[in-house]
Amino acid sequence: MAEKFDVVVLGSGAAGLTAAFTAAASGLSVGVFEKAAEVGGTTAWSGGNVWIPNNPLMAGVGVHDSDDEAFTYLMSLSRGLLSEPLVRAYLQAGPEMVEFLDARAGTEFYVAEGFPDYHPEHPGGKPEGGRTLETPLFPFDELGAWHHRVTPGPYFAELHLVQRETPIGAAVPQPPSAEELARRRIRDERGRGQSLVGRLLKACLDSGVVVRTDHRATELVVRDGRVSGVRFDGSAEVDASRGVVLATGGFEWNEEYKKAFLRGPLTHPVTMPTSEGDGLRMAMKVGVSLGNMREAWWSPVAVLPDGVNPMNRVMVNADRTRPRSIIVNRSGRRFTNEAANYNAFGGAFHAEDVTTFDYANLPCWLVFDQEYLRRYGTVGPYPPNEEPPPWLITGASLGELADRLGVPADEFERTVTRWNGHAAAGHDPDFRRGESAHDRWWGDPYLKGKPEATLGPLDEPPFYAVPLVSGALGTKGGPQTDAEARVLDLDGVPIEGFYAAGNVMASPFGMTYGGAGGTLGPAMVYGYIAGRHLAGRPA
Ligand SMILES: Cc1cc2nc3c(=O)[nH]c(=O)nc-3n(C[C@H](O)[C@H](O)[C@H](O)COP(=O)(O)OP(=O)(O)OC[C@H]3O[C@@H](n4cnc5c(N)ncnc54)[C@H](O)[C@@H]3O)c2cc1C
Repeated sequence: MAEKFDVVVLGSGAAGLTAAFTAAASGLSVGVFEKAAEVGGTTAWSGGNVWIPNNPLMAGVGVHDSDDEAFTYLMSLSRGLLSEPLVRAYLQAGPEMVEFLDARAGTEFYVAEGFPDYHPEHPGGKPEGGRTLETPLFPFDELGAWHHRVTPGPYFAELHLVQRETPIGAAVPQPPSAEELARRRIRDERGRGQSLVGRLLKACLDSGVVVRTDHRATELVVRDGRVSGVRFDGSAEVDASRGVVLATGGFEWNEEYKKAFLRGPLTHPVTMPTSEGDGLRMAMKVGVSLGNMREAWWSPVAVLPDGVNPMNRVMVNADRTRPRSIIVNRSGRRFTNEAANYNAFGGAFHAEDVTTFDYANLPCWLVFDQEYLRRYGTVGPYPPNEEPPPWLITGASLGELADRLGVPADEFERTVTRWNGHAAAGHDPDFRRGESAHDRWWGDPYLKGKPEATLGPLDEPPFYAVPLVSGALGTKGGPQTDAEARVLDLDGVPIEGFYAAGNVMASPFGMTYGGAGGTLGPAMVYGYIAGRHLAGRPA
C-alpha cells in the first residue's frame, strides 16, 4: 500500500523545506523526499543569503523600501521576461514569509548590512543594501539524529562562519578568533547555507514532517487530471491527497536538456550533481507550459586541478573584482567590467564573434600581478602571502605570460598599459568598472566604497593567469506557475495538486539577479506560497 500524506515535497533545498514547513505548520501531514543520500541540496552549499525586498528588518538598519520601489527595480531589469503578477506575488509574500519563518521556524533572519543590490543604480535599486538577509550560526547538535545528514558542501573549508564574517558579507569583515572558532565547534555551530538548511530542517522535523533521503522521484501520479502522488526509482509510490510540490532544483547537470534549452554554454555548474532535470522531465510528462528555459544564474568559474576541492572548480566572484587584476579574451583584450555581478557575465560569455564563428570571450583568463597574490591570495582559495599554487599560469613578464596563454603579446601589453592608466586616473572609461556601489563592495574589503576597491595597476612581475569558463549556480527555467505557485498546463490552466518552487520552476526573475540572495529569495518565497496555498490560507 502506498504511504499517504496530505502534501509530498520533492527535494530538500530551501524551496522544498520552506514549502514543507509552511504546510506542516498548518497541521498538514507532509513528506519530503530527497534523491541524494544527504539533505539540503545546493542550498546547504550556499552562502545562505536571502534577498527579500521591503523586508521587516530593513527599518531596523535605517533603510526605507517599498513594494513599488522593488517592483520598479525588478521591472527595470526585465527585458520583457518578467511576469508582473509573479513579481507582485513575490514582493507581497516575501516580507510575510520572513515574519512567519522568524516567528514559527526560528530562522532569526538579520540584514547583511550594507550589501548593495546587484544593479544598485537602476531605478528602485538599493546601493545601501538592506534587502539581503542571512541567518545566524545554528548549533547542529540540535538536529539530533540528523546532525550528520546535511550535505556539508565542497566549497567552504570552514563551516563555522557566517557570511558577514567573510570579505563579501560585510563592509569590514571581522573574522572570529581561533578561540571563538574552537568554541563554535563544540556544538558544531554552522553558518551560511548550513545554518539556513539546519534551521528549516529542524523546524520541519519538529512539526512532524517525514524526511526521506535516497528517494529519487521519477514520475507523477495523475488521477482524473489531478496530481495525487509520486513514484520513485525502485517502484515505491506515495499518495499526496492535497498535492505535490516540485522543488528538485535545476537541470544544469543534464547535458541533453542544456543543449536543448540554454542560450549558450554552461560547461561548469557549481551545484549539486543531483540537479539533473528530473523535475523538469516529470513536469513535461504531464503536459506543463515551460518558461524561462534559456536562463541560468550564471557565474564565471575556474577549473581547478584534482584535490583542491571535491568539485575541481570554484566560482570566481570576489577574486575578479579586486585591484591589480583584469580579465582578457583570446585577443588579449578586456571585454567587460570585471567587477560586474556574476550573473551578468553570462551575457559576456555568450557573445559571438561572427567572423570567426567562435564565442568571442571563451576562453578567457583572470590575470593578476605579484602584489595581488601577496595581498589577496588566489582562487581555490589560496591565502595571501603564500607560495603560489603550482598550477597557476605564470610569466616573468607580460610578454611571457601572453605567450603561455597563446594571446597576442603586443595587444596584451597594450591592454595592461591602458588599464594601468585607468587605474592611475581612478576611472575606467572602457567598461566603467568601479562606478557602481556593487563593484566597490566586492573589491578589496579594506577599501570598500571607493573606486580603489577595484581599480589598481598590474605592474609587479611575475604575472599570473587563471582560465575562466562559463558556469552557473543553477538553471532557472521549467514549469510555469501562476502567482500561487500552481503549475500551469499547456493551456495556461493550473493543474490540480501540482506546485513548483525554486530553480525547477520558470523563475519569476527572468534573466535578473536582484541582489545577494537573489536565487534563495524567490525559491523560499514560492515554496512559502505553495505551502500556504496547500494549507488553504488565502494570500
Ligand atoms: C557556493 C554557492 C554559494 C551560493 N550562495 C548563494 C547565496 O548566498 N544566496 C542565493 O540566493 N543563492 C546562492 N547560491 C545558489 C543557491 O544555492 C541555489 O540557487 C538554491 O540552493 C536553489 O534552491 P532549490 O531549493 O531550488 O534547489 P536545491 O537546494 O538544489 O535543492 C534541490 C534538491 O532536490 C533534490 N532532487 C533532485 N532531483 C530529485 C528527484 N528526482 N527526487 C527527489 N529529490 C530530487 C536534489 O538532490 C536537491 O537536494 C549559491 C550556490 C553555490 C554553489
